[in-house]
Amino acid sequence: MQHGLFPDELVVAAGAVPLHLILGGKDEQELGDYYLSATTCPFGRSTLGFFEKKHPLYSLIDTMIVGTFCNGVQNVSNYLEYFNIPFIPFILPHSRTRSALNFYLHELKKIQTFLEEFTGNKITPQSLLNAIHTYNEMRNLLRKVNDYRKFENPPVRGMDIHQLVWQALLIGPQEMIPKIKHVLRQLENTTSNHSGVRLLLTGSGITLGDSILQLIEDQCAGLVVADDLWSCMDYFLEDVDSTASDLYRALGERYLYKNLCGRMIPDIRLQRILEFYDLFHASGVINHTLKYCDSYSNLKPEFRKILKLNNIPVLDLDRDYAESNIGQIKTRIEAFLEMIA
Ligand code: SF4
Repeated sequence: MQHGLFPDELVVAAGAVPLHLILGGKDEQELGDYYLSATTCPFGRSTLGFFEKKHPLYSLIDTMIVGTFCNGVQNVSNYLEYFNIPFIPFILPHSRTRSALNFYLHELKKIQTFLEEFTGNKITPQSLLNAIHTYNEMRNLLRKVNDYRKFENPPVRGMDIHQLVWQALLIGPQEMIPKIKHVLRQLENTTSNHSGVRLLLTGSGITLGDSILQLIEDQCAGLVVADDLWSCMDYFLEDVDSTASDLYRALGERYLYKNLCGRMIPDIRLQRILEFYDLFHASGVINHTLKYCDSYSNLKPEFRKILKLNNIPVLDLDRDYAESNIGQIKTRIEAFLEMIA
């Protein structure tokens, strides 16, 4: 379950393919209810639902690296044995201190050994450098596409950028780089543009199969022009320093120090939200959290207070993947957009 804290570069350097658990859906959430109580987040429950129904993508998994990101991930990992999926935990610190970085690097070495034994391939300085270059190239291309969101009538919507990141998380950079180049060529010549009430989206990540972006952009005339989500901008904003003499430290500094995860102490997202809000000319913020996603909900009152102090309208949305209350959510979004338009 990708939340932006693990360097995929290491997996690619070992000659393996990183495939992230990024699917979410209402039917699978219900299937997951057989395993986990409703106090686990919908993403966690639906992940087990996808394993239960033997989704073709998840059937490709040979082994898993499970970052100890939050309770949701922990609860899912308790059941991996049941689905015969071998896994290794990747213990994640909560702070960005020097000692936390040392601990993180120690864990990376553990994963390096695991990957080398599992694949039979040695991770060499050159293979790691190549992987870092490849990911940096992909991130740079994604940033170029993302920059189109700053336009007055942008040719891309939040949904489009999310789709590119979801694909990258599923098929890796080798396949994605030509695809993103193709998208960029199309964007240079496109006449299509979008309009709507410009929004910044923060909170829990959006999974492939979740309908919230369609609801905001297709049904409510909103336009998500920026975000700070692990499922979108946080994935590609920061590169790894490929000129560093210690590439492992460079990975640690990128993934531990520069992520925008709500679980980190201190949480550095507010500053970036204010920055993106101006840069992408947003008119309001939707703070979306999945139920029981503590990592992204515990600072909601603080977010609301600081955003208000900056005269930024904010809508707090708490939801799961079930569609029973979709009408109510739609009404709240529409009322918010009407207020700020
Ligand atoms: S961060 Fe939130 S949505 Fe993601 S697995 Fe953890 S609890 Fe679930």
